[in-house]
Amino acid sequence: MSIVKVSRDGVFGEGNQEKFGGSYVSEELKSALRKLDDAFQRYKEDEEFEREFQYYLKEYVGRPNPLYFADRLTNELGGAKIYLKREDLNHTGAHKINNTIGQVLLANRMNVKRIIAETGAGQHGVATATVCALFNIPCTIYMGEVDIERQALNVFRMQMLGAEVVAAKSGNRTLKEAVDEALNDFSQNYADTFYLIGSVVGPHPFPLIVRHFQSIIGREAKQQILDKEGRLPDLITACVGGGSNAVGLFYPFVDDPNVRIVGVEPAGKGIATGIHAAPLCTGKPDIIHGFRCHVMEDAENCHSIAAGLDYPGVGPEHSYYKHIGRADYVSITDEEALRAFLTLSKTEGIIPALESSHAVAYAMKVAPTMNKDEIIIVSLSGRGDKDVAQVYDMLHVHPSLQET
Ligand SMILES: *Cc1c(COP(=O)(O)O)cnc(C)c1O
Repeated sequence: MSIVKVSRDGVFGEGNQEKFGGSYVSEELKSALRKLDDAFQRYKEDEEFEREFQYYLKEYVGRPNPLYFADRLTNELGGAKIYLKREDLNHTGAHKINNTIGQVLLANRMNVKRIIAETGAGQHGVATATVCALFNIPCTIYMGEVDIERQALNVFRMQMLGAEVVAAKSGNRTLKEAVDEALNDFSQNYADTFYLIGSVVGPHPFPLIVRHFQSIIGREAKQQILDKEGRLPDLITACVGGGSNAVGLFYPFVDDPNVRIVGVEPAGKGIATGIHAAPLCTGKPDIIHGFRCHVMEDAENCHSIAAGLDYPGVGPEHSYYKHIGRADYVSITDEEALRAFLTLSKTEGIIPALESSHAVAYAMKVAPTMNKDEIIIVSLSGRGDKDVAQVYDMLHVHPSLQET
């Protein structure tokens, strides 16, 4: 039996333990979520559905992607062997497409007329617009007005793919407001609208749906490491924004007691400054966006060099892993992530996303403290092409980083 306990209403935990997840939403939204849960329960066991999911993962996304042995990086660090799970090689350049393919197939089965989604920097918006183009489903993306200005190129990309981008104009006009607008739209229009959420967050059943589709990462990695090394890894690690690439890698390993699991949060400008996005390392359990998880003390200060990690809450499954001690959560600063970005580019010829660079930075820290026969798997959640212009600007402010 799995150590992950989830009740029927999506609460992680049991007995008197602290509870995470659940569904703290209006009655209208509850009806919408019940309908979604029924469809998910039915199709996750459906062979034809699974066959179709596997078809698109192979023919459209390009799976299985490699588990690549980073030989040069390993040698330079002189410790544990580092393997990279290459989600960056997926179509559209990150792990997000695994989930959007799965959910669009679910939406198709439910005969919806339109799909809506939230997006922060635009990555989930682009992944959603991509599958909506593929399946010819009208698509509306909610995005904060501030983010629309900052990410003009991603807005244009979504429009090219046929999506309508709608500005969220309340509050800070960023991701939080975009989620609020999307949930509001969904609660009013659920008869014919599907809300395609981007990470293992939100009220039940969203975290379980996204975990289900992202677990392909860990299932492949497990088989690949057994084929290459004949044994399980000693440590697996991934960056944690909402937490979907991390849960995707971790979940198939949670019941393997000898595999150490470490999630990496963004420490931003440093935990002590308060300017970061590390709710598991610093926050307290609270309710955000209709579910219970660790939430940052001061969500106004939420910041990371990596736009995709910039969220003040976190997937409830991570809060649960932390609570029961199954995973550890550490943090990596903007500057450490930037160094890892440059190091991996130079030593392996792989430019990682700034998000993924947090996990790479942690592996670079810990590998030299481990034995040479030990194994680390790092989720390389996405490619860094999208970040090259931002890094260019930063290196002109801190030219000294170039010498590392
Ligand atoms: C969106 C994104 C993340 C953060 O999302 P999770 O749900 O925490 O995985 C990480 N890496 C990349 C490349 C992303 O695009």
